Amino acid sequence: MARVVVIGAGLGGLPAAYELRHVLPRHHQVTLISNRPTFTFVPSLPWVGLGLRSLDRIQLELAKIVPQHGIELIHDAVSAINPKSKQLALTGRTLEYDYVVIATGPELALDALPGLGPETGYTQSVCNPHHALLACDAWKQFLQDPGPIVVGAAPGASCFGPAYEFALLAHHTLRRQGLRDRVPMTLVTSEPYAGHLGIGGMADSRWLIRAMLADRHIDVMDNVAISCVDSTTIHLADGRSLPFKYAMILPPFRGPQFLRDAPGLSDAKGFMPVLPTYRHPVYDSVYSVGVITQLKPIESTPIPIGVPKVGQMTEEMVMAVAHNIALDLGVMDGHPIKPTLQAICFADFGDTGALFLADPLLPDSEGHRHRAFTTKGRWVSWAKTAFEKYFMDKMRVGWPMPWFERWGLRMLGLPLVEPIAPDASFDVNRPVV
Ligand SMILES: Cc1cc2nc3c(=O)[nH]c(=O)nc-3n(C[C@H](O)[C@H](O)[C@H](O)COP(=O)(O)OP(=O)(O)OC[C@H]3O[C@@H](n4cnc5c(N)ncnc54)[C@H](O)[C@@H]3O)c2cc1C
Repeated sequence: MARVVVIGAGLGGLPAAYELRHVLPRHHQVTLISNRPTFTFVPSLPWVGLGLRSLDRIQLELAKIVPQHGIELIHDAVSAINPKSKQLALTGRTLEYDYVVIATGPELALDALPGLGPETGYTQSVCNPHHALLACDAWKQFLQDPGPIVVGAAPGASCFGPAYEFALLAHHTLRRQGLRDRVPMTLVTSEPYAGHLGIGGMADSRWLIRAMLADRHIDVMDNVAISCVDSTTIHLADGRSLPFKYAMILPPFRGPQFLRDAPGLSDAKGFMPVLPTYRHPVYDSVYSVGVITQLKPIESTPIPIGVPKVGQMTEEMVMAVAHNIALDLGVMDGHPIKPTLQAICFADFGDTGALFLADPLLPDSEGHRHRAFTTKGRWVSWAKTAFEKYFMDKMRVGWPMPWFERWGLRMLGLPLVEPIAPDASFDVNRPVV
């Protein structure tokens, strides 16, 4: 019997536990460790931050949905890992594993800038449920006495989409409330240009995003570094400053402390190196999925930024990791598989929305992808709401990737995973970065 432990019950960890349970016979144990009692659908947090969605609607109580699927649930935070002895430290005890899947998502590096973050500084974030609730409280107060808004991303940030979504949704909400004229809005980003998104842009993302912001009279300051924030002003490294009454600034991400503390396990920022199979290059029993995986920036940029890992890529990694662990345990035949890193993303802007398809998300060294397109329309907002409900239902019933979803995506030319053939043109023993 093998014990497979998944750390983190977010968009990567909960589906990973379900998928492992699905592919492994019952004599192998699947354990899910979560430091929170609930699963949260993170892509909907910008709505929560603006009071457009209640948090309950995008959360599921893990104790009600996980054990019934034959998965052991431990509500605790992993505080240390020893990949040599295959042990995890939990509160007052040690847990041994045969395989571990790291799915902790990011820790927010709020100490990257003085004044960043809702508790350590003066800016809001929507990167976790607690922050989204604080952002919402601050938003309600702001509406009583509005003034300038600054939305953006700090140097080192990797997830830029939610800044655009938040800015455009805030515009829409203010307009509906008749307050927009009283609120100068600025978007400040460390991307070399607005719409770069950490992936060198895609299709016409640069022009689409710029036009949407311009149409709504949102000033754009791109390729700028925020240096510090005080209670009234965002200071930029070039000496300029932006007064604000409300600021939502996406922080840089890093891996959690327990990964950074384990020698040779993660990179300096705590991200996990992975082989094409999403196994660790040194420790065979360690796999990773989601935001915690290490992906090298596609180009060096004037201000350092990271690469986003979006939900669909996370799901692809989950499928690959569950399959590859099952192969390793000898319960499945065939080749190892790897995620295709194709991505579809929906962004809601209130009265319209934008869909981004990148195949794959990261272009090759010459900047090419097989396919990339963006489109916009009201229907994208509805599709995002429908997808949220669909994903929550999948997590409720424990069906991470139903056959009809796999089939539908394959019809769109998005197979999600692909076999690593024995004659693969890349070295399967080299990390993907
Ligand atoms: C604001 C925002 C909006 C986004 N919008 C979109 C979008 O529209 N479309 C899209 O495709 N992607 C979007 N993304 C990206 C998407 O949310 C991520 O790809 C996805 O959440 C990654 O899943 P994950 O499992 O790596 O991390 P998470 O979903 O964050 O889950 C990690 C879990 O691990 C837990 N954990 C952490 N440390 C420990 C520990 N030591 N012990 C136990 N548990 C631990 C955390 O509490 C958390 O529950 C967005 C991201 C953000 C931040």
